[in-house]
Amino acid sequence: MILKELVSNVALLIASLFVYSQSTHAIPLSRSSSLKTKIVSGILAGILANVLMQYSMHFDTTIVDLRHIPIILVAYYGGTIPAVTSMFLVIIGRFIIGFNTSSLLALFLIVSITLITVIITRLNMSKRIKIFLTLTSSNIIFTILIVYLLQNGSTLTILIPSFWVISYLAGFVSFYVIEFVRRSQNLLNKYKAEAATDGLTGLNNVRKFDQSFNEIAAQAVHKEEKLSLLYIDIDHFKKVNDTYGHKEGDQVLIELSRILKNTVRSFDIVSRNGGEEFTVILLDCPTDRANEISERIREKVETHAFLLTTGQMIHITVSIGLACYNETTSEPKLLIKEADHALYDAKQTGRNKVCISPSHEWASHRA
Ligand code: GH3
Ligand code: MG
Ligand code: MG
Repeated sequence: MILKELVSNVALLIASLFVYSQSTHAIPLSRSSSLKTKIVSGILAGILANVLMQYSMHFDTTIVDLRHIPIILVAYYGGTIPAVTSMFLVIIGRFIIGFNTSSLLALFLIVSITLITVIITRLNMSKRIKIFLTLTSSNIIFTILIVYLLQNGSTLTILIPSFWVISYLAGFVSFYVIEFVRRSQNLLNKYKAEAATDGLTGLNNVRKFDQSFNEIAAQAVHKEEKLSLLYIDIDHFKKVNDTYGHKEGDQVLIELSRILKNTVRSFDIVSRNGGEEFTVILLDCPTDRANEISERIREKVETHAFLLTTGQMIHITVSIGLACYNETTSEPKLLIKEADHALYDAKQTGRNKVCISPSHEWASHRA
């Protein structure tokens, strides 16, 4: 059966593409990929093309298969470098199978397909037209060569149409598989990012805060570093909502997030833990430095005019609770509770202030 090997080629091609695109989703091949990624992709495509050659249809010394498809794919996504890399591997592989007129013509076939593909992928057209043109020109070059090589009318009348159909099918299905896997991975990454982000402010949400806090706390213990945590809560925020409405309250939350982000260091982690409560994880930061940062936040908020959508300007204040691992507590898991208690103290003792969690060492240091 003349089709059997070509169908095996299609099955092998699609299975390999699926595994390949799944395993490289973090850095999918593109024209801006690193040289290393381009060469590795070219080598993998070359290996795949060589595997496809092992499942060729044989007509005396001539072999027919879909070895051109992996080259077309890497040329399309990665440009000249991966295309030429895979082309050389195909040429070497073909000469290992046999060195004769047929393999010399196969050399011509694969070089011309690679060049034409590289040129077409650079043209300014839609993806589908580029793919169609590349596959069609490959099929035409193949037809010319196979007619020259075989010159057996009855074989050609079956082989040529079969090759055209299978080559189009394999080409389009391969692109479909790659695009499908890439799209699914993009969506997954997008949903992952959204699951970690607060929709209103764009800060980390409480789930991401928990995850980051656990990782950073473990690191701080390992490196014996100090780690500070701030709990920040807007004072009398209910009044803002009651006076100006919930939507304006949201506006204030967005603006406050911006102030927090701009006031802490770039590597500190700011989260909205819920409602009008925020946290800042201050990495490698002792209590006195964390206290300076907290005071800076408190002052900035106090002096900032928050612009409402109505054009009105309002002022708010925040209360901040601070705790520090290796200073106010020796247990990282107590940081959250301590910072929350310190915030409660700030609320109880007048608001618009920073309170530091008491500890034996800290209390004696302050005394
Ligand atoms: P305190 O100084 O004791 O913190 O007073 P408060 O009014 O800020 O505290 P309370 O916890 O009583 O109220 C918090 C308010 O925050 C209640 C709620 O209306 C408001 N709030 C919570 N989440 C949101 C939100 O997503 N958007 C807006 N606009 N308001 C929110
Ligand atoms: Mg609150
Ligand atoms: Mg509040």
